[in-house]
Amino acid sequence: MPSPTLIDDAKAITGELVTLRRAIHTEPELGLHTPKTRDKVRMALAHLPLEWREGPSTTGLVATLRGHGGDGRSVLLRGDMDALPMPEETGLDFASVVPGVMHACGHDAHTAMLAGAAELLCKRADSLKGEVRFMFQPGEEGHHGARFMLEDGLLGDGDHPLPDAAFALHVFPNAPHGMIGGRAGPLLAAADQFCITVNGKGGHASIPHETMDPVPVACEIVTALQAMVTRRFSVFDPVVLTVARIESGTTFNVIPDKAEIEGTMRSLSTANRERLKEHIQLVAAGISGAHGLTVDIEIVEGFPVTVCNERAVDFGERVTREIFGEEAFLRLDDPIMGAEDFAYVLEKVPGAMFFLGVSHEGEDWTQCCGIHSTKMMLDESVMPNGSALLAGLAVSFLEHGFD
Ligand SMILES: [Zn+2]
Repeated sequence: MPSPTLIDDAKAITGELVTLRRAIHTEPELGLHTPKTRDKVRMALAHLPLEWREGPSTTGLVATLRGHGGDGRSVLLRGDMDALPMPEETGLDFASVVPGVMHACGHDAHTAMLAGAAELLCKRADSLKGEVRFMFQPGEEGHHGARFMLEDGLLGDGDHPLPDAAFALHVFPNAPHGMIGGRAGPLLAAADQFCITVNGKGGHASIPHETMDPVPVACEIVTALQAMVTRRFSVFDPVVLTVARIESGTTFNVIPDKAEIEGTMRSLSTANRERLKEHIQLVAAGISGAHGLTVDIEIVEGFPVTVCNERAVDFGERVTREIFGEEAFLRLDDPIMGAEDFAYVLEKVPGAMFFLGVSHEGEDWTQCCGIHSTKMMLDESVMPNGSALLAGLAVSFLEHGFD
C-alpha cells in the first residue's frame, strides 16, 4: 500500500515542481541533445542520494535510488525532456524565449513530475523494498531517444539487468482535471512515414501519348491506398493511412517527369505494421506498372506500437484508486493513433503508460487546446498528482509486484 501521505508530500513540493517546470518551459530544447534541461534536472536533484548514468548517444539521464530489503525488485519511471519545433502563442510570462521552439507536448511537466517523484521516494528510501530508476529522456518527438538510451545500456546491460517494470505518464489538456486514464493492450499506434516517387517521362501537355505522365498514376495510387485500407485490413485491427502531400509539376502545359506522394501509416499491431509496408509496395508498384511507369518507395520507420501490459494496467488502476479515490481512474475504450517512443521500453519491460488530465479545474476541457497546439497550456496544480502517482506505483511495485 502506498503511504497515505504521498499526495500530501507531493502537494508540499508544488512550488519546486512549478519552478522546475517553468524553467524548462522557458528554455525548450529539441531532439536528442537537451543539455540545459539535463543540467536543470541534475541541479534540482543534486541534494538527493541518487546514482547517475548518462551518455554517450544522448543527453538522457538515468538516476538510480537504492532502497533497502525486500526481494530486490526494480522499477523504472520515465519522463521525457524535449520540446517541439513550433512557435509558442500562450502569452504566458514564462513562455519560451527560444524562437520557434515550444514545450507544447507537456514534456516540461513530465520532467518536473518525475523529479518530484524522485524527491518523494528518496524521503522514503529506508522503507523502499528495491531499486527505482528515473529515466529522463530527450528525443521523444520522433528522435527515438528511448531506443538510443536502451542501446546505450542505460536502462540495463550485462551486469545490470533491465528493470522488472516500467511506468510513464503523459499529460492531456483536453481531458478532465486530474483524471488518470489507461488501457491494457495497444494504447498508441506504430507510426511510419512513406514517400512514393512515381517516375515518368515529361513533355508537352498537348501530346501526352508521347510522354509517361506520372500525375494520373499518382492520383490512382492515392485512391487505391484508401481502398487498400478498407479492403485488405480487418476493421478489428484498424490501420490509418493518410496521404498528406502530393507534389508534381511546375506549370499548366508541361507534363512533369515525376510525382511524389508522402504520408503516414499507423497500425495497432506489429503484424499490420509489416503488412502495411508490404501492401503499399504492391499497390504503388502494381498501378504504376500497369501504366508502364515505375515507383521508388521510401519508408522511414517511426515508433512501434505502445502496448501496455494487462497486469500493469490493473495494478496502476488499483494504485490510482488508493491514492486519489474510486473515481480517479478511467478505462479508455480505444487506443489513440498518435505514437510514443516509450513503446521501445514497453517492448522489453512489462509496464504501462497512463494519461493525466491537466485541464484547469471547472474549465470545459473539450474546448482546451490540445497537445502540439501553439496555445497548449496545463493546470500546474495537477502536477503533484503526477509525482504522487509515479511514486505510488514505485512503492507498491517494489512491495508486491503487480499483485
Ligand atoms: Zn508527448
